Amino acid sequence: MIRYRCDGCQTDLARDGSNHFIIKIDAFAAAGRLEFTKEDVERDHEAEIRKLLADLARQSPDEIEDQVYRALRFDLCPACHRGFLKNPLGCLPAPT
Ligand SMILES: [Zn+2]
Repeated sequence: MIRYRCDGCQTDLARDGSNHFIIKIDAFAAAGRLEFTKEDVERDHEAEIRKLLADLARQSPDEIEDQVYRALRFDLCPACHRGFLKNPLGCLPAPT
């Protein structure tokens, strides 16, 4: 049996969903407009790719994912849900 607790205040959330709100957030890097010059296309990219791979090898998968995309989910009770709606960026618990 799955048991839910509010991520804000640890209140038990009812199995029937009567006091349960779900918040889903997608955090991702904004993609800017891509423009390529002739020099960009003709440049030798091998050294850049080797450096990029070496940089990635030094980072944890979580660090890399945080730079690109992260999906967050929070289960909230009615009181914490109201608090979220009043101040969406100020009342969220830290993701685990
Ligand atoms: Zn709560």
